[in-house]
Amino acid sequence: MSLLLLAGSLLITVVCYLLGLPFFFLFLFIPLLPYFGRGPVRMKRCPVCGWETAGREDFCPWDGSRLTPADGQGDD
Ligand SMILES: [Zn+2]
Repeated sequence: MSLLLLAGSLLITVVCYLLGLPFFFLFLFIPLLPYFGRGPVRMKRCPVCGWETAGREDFCPWDGSRLTPADGQGDD
């Protein structure tokens, strides 16, 4: 998947370079965005069933329990 993003990014970069656009290098960072975005993601965990999400859910979709933050200090 990241290879596909990289290939697409390189393709856009080459096209922009050929067009003489000065900001073509910005597209080089596109494949890196998911990695940057992965850091501050706050995981939430259901204390009842252990369901985890990085989304905006506040309640477990399975049992309706309020999700608690799982800031990586959890135990595996
Ligand atoms: Zn649950």
